[in-house]
Amino acid sequence: MSVKEEIARRRTFGIVSHPDAGKTTLTEKLLLFGGAIQEAGAVKSNKIKKGATSDFMEIERQRGISVATSVLAFEYQGTKINILDTPGHKDFAEDTFRTLTAVDSVIVVIDVAKGVEEQTEKLVEVCRMRNIPMIVFVNKLDREGKDAFELLDEIEQKLHLSVTPLSFPIGMGYDFKGIYNIWEKNVNLFSGDSRKNIEETVEVSDIQDNILDKLVGSDAADNLREELELVQGVYPAFDKEAYLDGHQQPVFFGSALNSFGVRELLDCFVEIAPTPRPKQSEERLVLPDEKDFSGFVFKIHANMDPKHRDRLAFIKIVSGVFERNTPYLHVRNKKKLKFSSPNAFFAERKQIVDISYPGDIVGLHDTGNFKIGDTLTSGEEIHYKGIPSFSPEHFRYINNADPMKSKQLAKGIDQLMDEGVAQLFTLELNGRKVIGTVGALQYEVIQYRLEHEYGAKCTYEPLNVHKACWVDPEDPKSEEFKEFLRVKQRFMAKDKRDQLVFLADSAFSLQMTQQKYPSVKMHFVSEFD
Ligand code: GDP
Repeated sequence: MSVKEEIARRRTFGIVSHPDAGKTTLTEKLLLFGGAIQEAGAVKSNKIKKGATSDFMEIERQRGISVATSVLAFEYQGTKINILDTPGHKDFAEDTFRTLTAVDSVIVVIDVAKGVEEQTEKLVEVCRMRNIPMIVFVNKLDREGKDAFELLDEIEQKLHLSVTPLSFPIGMGYDFKGIYNIWEKNVNLFSGDSRKNIEETVEVSDIQDNILDKLVGSDAADNLREELELVQGVYPAFDKEAYLDGHQQPVFFGSALNSFGVRELLDCFVEIAPTPRPKQSEERLVLPDEKDFSGFVFKIHANMDPKHRDRLAFIKIVSGVFERNTPYLHVRNKKKLKFSSPNAFFAERKQIVDISYPGDIVGLHDTGNFKIGDTLTSGEEIHYKGIPSFSPEHFRYINNADPMKSKQLAKGIDQLMDEGVAQLFTLELNGRKVIGTVGALQYEVIQYRLEHEYGAKCTYEPLNVHKACWVDPEDPKSEEFKEFLRVKQRFMAKDKRDQLVFLADSAFSLQMTQQKYPSVKMHFVSEFD
């Protein structure tokens, strides 16, 4: 197969949802269809169990699973599918945001009863800003839930999407009879038998045909006809270009647990979902079918065995092919590196591969060379953009609790920050170190890992910070900026990349500061133009 053909058959995507909507179940059913796993229950959910925040075994268990499920690849009808795992727990949102820089499209799972939930809103917003193509899967139709039209309205309003249903439920919950597939023009009857992996569908090319009455009963058939008419009147026809540009989102209905409606979703997905997309670097737009290799690190995973300090850096291949034992340029370090055992991921195993193509993810053993966002190329000095840090939600001073181990502590903090576990800020005034995180859980993870992997002990001290704002003065030499720096000295810090950050202690003081120093722009994301 030529490289062009390899690229054309790849689909790399992520499934996003609020916890419990059914992401793990859907992932598992997709793998079952691909023949990548044999039985249900094989894919472990990496969600944090309730009340487990102080259970370190739980954290380790979760980390173990998250390595295993970081990338799940399988073949389906000649297509190579790469699913990138995105934790749904809000304390790991930063991880998910970064993974979304490596996907070419997304499937959004929504619980039919709960509708659009908080995490879904946040994650979809990120996808929308980047125009990532999205397909929506409304799950748990075997349960009583919201009316389909009401739900479609809610999706449009809360997620600011422009939807068009490609399937439509016939009844719901107790009365759930099946799904009319608008995309394929057939009816799939619901039997509630989850052991069936392949459902039988009956073609109904004309919904006026009374075969529909025979299948679902006259009342349900008439109801469906009315509803489909309404669908046609209200929603635009599916437009593949609009979907690929991120301007239209097709919707499917089903029940992942019952393997129902999943095949329809998958068949449509492999047909319409984008092949690996071009990526913007600071220098230029890079196309997947370029000859030279390039890729970027979007995730770093520490070895679970504390005796082995090496880590696994996950690289998304953007262009060219990645080959084993070939020297590549680490652009930030200006060093050539060679990898003798790059890992590829298949369902739940990893395996050394000789060659990988755009869209694929390779895991490279790393002894501390990589940071999240690093670019690796055949030689060209390009830098991929777009792995921003967001302002953390929580801030605490970190103190050394064992003076004999200060080196270990510094190294541990450094490496955990490279992995993206949290963000480090160093106060300009006194050099004190502040750890910022998305969730409180991360503080325990850091403390635990510093002790177990680096032999260092730390304590935390509260610090009142509302938001970290990346400072961007119109004129760094202006009197206004100098005054700002002088007056706000106590609140100024540097992030890991030496960018200047203002740690605002309240929403009010932030607002006052912005009013007083209008030429000093504040950004809540570390990357800005
Ligand atoms: P995740 O947190 O999004 O990964 O959600 P899971 O896949 O772990 O599912 C959460 C719960 O919903 C589990 O108890 C599943 O068995 C259940 N579930 C998933 N899909 C369905 C479905 O189609 N119908 C019903 N009734 N339950 C489902």
